[in-house]
Amino acid sequence: MHLDPFELHRPTTVGETVRLAGSLAGRFDFLAGGTDLLPNYKMHLNLKPHLIALEDVAELRGHTLERVGAMARLADLERDEEFARAWPALHDAVQEVATPLVRASGTVGGNLLLETRCFFFNQSYFWRASLGFCLKADGDRCHVVPQKEVCYATFSGDLAPALMVLDAEVEVAGPDGRRRLPLGALYDAQGDGIRRLTLSPGELVVAVHLPRAARGRKGRYKKLRVRPTFDFPELGVAVAGRWDGARVEELRIAVGGADPRPRRFDELTQACVGGALGDARARELGAAIAATVRPVHNTFLPADYRRRMIAVYVRRAIAEARVGSAA
Ligand SMILES: Cc1cc2nc3c(=O)[nH]c(=O)nc-3n(C[C@H](O)[C@H](O)[C@H](O)COP(=O)(O)OP(=O)(O)OC[C@H]3O[C@@H](n4cnc5c(N)ncnc54)[C@H](O)[C@@H]3O)c2cc1C
Ligand code: SF4
Repeated sequence: MHLDPFELHRPTTVGETVRLAGSLAGRFDFLAGGTDLLPNYKMHLNLKPHLIALEDVAELRGHTLERVGAMARLADLERDEEFARAWPALHDAVQEVATPLVRASGTVGGNLLLETRCFFFNQSYFWRASLGFCLKADGDRCHVVPQKEVCYATFSGDLAPALMVLDAEVEVAGPDGRRRLPLGALYDAQGDGIRRLTLSPGELVVAVHLPRAARGRKGRYKKLRVRPTFDFPELGVAVAGRWDGARVEELRIAVGGADPRPRRFDELTQACVGGALGDARARELGAAIAATVRPVHNTFLPADYRRRMIAVYVRRAIAEARVGSAA
């Protein structure tokens, strides 16, 4: 596999990046660490003739406890002990992404905007050509649910669920200026594995903001995958909450790796606030969440197994979060 030629642009400010994106009108991709985009380019998946590298845009780099730049490297978050203590569920998720080598290049922005995955899509050009292309690249049908014109590719980023349970907000910049939105609103509730984001053309992610009010929540992120040292999530469950003895004061649960977008389940968790949440009640809550999620068989593990594991991971994550430490 090889990379086809492309023109590389290296802006140094957010304003310059936005102007450049406007002038290239859809014929470009942003390039962060490249750990997802470049393998996809090698497989000839939706190539663009221009890449806008974000590496030199100083404003996107670095992190504090409450602001994480889009170009912050996962390895830098992983090494920061104060950050790990402040945001335990998020730190769990960061450590679970890929391998140390990938985390040294991979960024937070790239992780949130990861291309959705499907085993009929993440294949070489020749593999896809021999089967027949699909809706998500070069073709006009879906191999997973052929009777529908919808893409069921799965959102397989680890960080989004862990950030959603912390009420994180994302700051984006584009031709109409800057805006901040709850992280969950970055993912299109009406969309599918292709039209999965709510970003307008030319908008980029600048940073993620973590609210001070979420400090002190206890949390865990549990990940189901085939090879524990390497693989994308087949399921990711994030929990964050506060307890007063056995009584739940606050609870958030988000699930990734099961749908085309990560989702939070506020109606179901809100019903638990004020009461005790032992193993049996946590299992019921997990089953209620699982009943609203519809994974399809487009990753390695069977869809029904992934769905049933939601209840198991919700129960385990709640039990571990509750006894875990909080900053
Ligand atoms: C072997 C392997 C295993 C992996 N395992 C996992 C895993 O277990 N869990 C997981 O979550 N990921 C995994 N990944 C995917 C990836 O490495 C990480 O998600 C990483 O954080 C992506 O960041 P990046 O900077 O490399 O993104 P890039 O590849 O540079 O970009 C990804 C996408 O985001 C867009 N983008 C990037 N930054 C911005 C921005 N600021 N604004 C707008 N658009 C932007 C790009 O245009 C591109 O579409 C794996 C990758 C490999 C190669
Ligand atoms: S779910 Fe269907 S359309 Fe989407 S990537 Fe897989 S095969 Fe292609």
